[in-house]
Amino acid sequence: MKINENYRSLETSYLFSQVAAKRAAYEKAHPDQRILSLGIGDVTRPLPEPVTRAFTEAAAGQGDPARFHGYGPEQGYPFLREAIQSYYRRFGVDIPLSDLFVSDGAKCDLGNLLDLFDADNTVLIPDPVYPVYRDTNQMAGRRISYLSAVPENDFLPMPDPEQKADIIYLCSPNNPTGNVYRKEQLSEWVDYANRQGAVILFDAAYEAFVTDPSLPHSIYEIEGARTCAIEVCSLSKTAGFTGTRCGYTVVPGELIRDGLSLRSMWLRRQTTKFNGVSYPVQKAAAAAFSEEGLAACRKILSVYQSNARLMHRVLKEAGVWHTGGVHSPYLWMKCPQGQSSWEFFDRLLEQAQVIGTPGCGFGAGGEGFFRLTAFGTPEDTAEAMERIRRML
Ligand code: PLP
Repeated sequence: MKINENYRSLETSYLFSQVAAKRAAYEKAHPDQRILSLGIGDVTRPLPEPVTRAFTEAAAGQGDPARFHGYGPEQGYPFLREAIQSYYRRFGVDIPLSDLFVSDGAKCDLGNLLDLFDADNTVLIPDPVYPVYRDTNQMAGRRISYLSAVPENDFLPMPDPEQKADIIYLCSPNNPTGNVYRKEQLSEWVDYANRQGAVILFDAAYEAFVTDPSLPHSIYEIEGARTCAIEVCSLSKTAGFTGTRCGYTVVPGELIRDGLSLRSMWLRRQTTKFNGVSYPVQKAAAAAFSEEGLAACRKILSVYQSNARLMHRVLKEAGVWHTGGVHSPYLWMKCPQGQSSWEFFDRLLEQAQVIGTPGCGFGAGGEGFFRLTAFGTPEDTAEAMERIRRML
């Protein structure tokens, strides 16, 4: 037999395991010190009450012959897809139910969508960005061209009309930089993708953090996107579903490549390799989109947004260059005194007992930068920022 040789080209250690190893080593050497983390990409607030109510009711129903649910509809229950459809209408986007696919999260969909595309494709990936885009394509041996995200372009790279592309990743609001594409910018990407016959994989996992009504939540707010873009979204960061698992992907019926409908291909793929999200989780997700659920989620988001404002204030007062943190839970800072990402990580751990995420873990372009997240508790965030203020 032959293994997939592409796995040899992957970096052996994933960013967060390296961070965890350094933290464990420090804790072992300094058992009396309390480490605070501004490094996690996970949420800390529990599921909101309307969500747990729906979740527990549905879970209890699974033990009742009259309310039991077995395999569900292939693309997700209509009650959830209709709730997602109504949510999209809030930003003026009409998604046909047939385009909506419920899943157990954005990460799986981002990886699985690649089943639709040949290995012989050129992929454009921003650098730095969520490492899953790069790793999943390396696993399949695709050619990758990186789009340089730098302070000069506000970490929002734009298309080069001369550059060839087949698959394009856009993440807005961005992980790790926290920046958001404006509609005119996304419009350029949509025009470029349509001209090239490329497909945009638009990751909207952080759309709920967008507060400026002029900024887009969805690529489908842009004219022409239905013929070139697939959108992946998640309830993880919006409604606290990181441990509950639910997301959704939109594959428009108009998206045709080589005479085949990508929506039909995705349906074929999902019905072959995926058997749906559990009924209680779909009930919980639908509750997150109810009026009551959305209000509860907004309350949770406001806790993270308030953390982000505090973090911004401290960095600003310390004269540290940074961006993000407004329409995003992430602040992206330049490491002071020209330090490398890992040098600053070590300094922060040793001098302030605070953990962050080295920017270089998101791609070579992230070297010299550092990501702080606002997902901590207000108390821990305040203490961590006080320690950082003293250190700086
Ligand atoms: N997309 C981005 C940009 C992310 O940062 C994350 C998680 O950190 C995900 C997707 C994964 O989301 P999910 O929990 O739905 O798999």
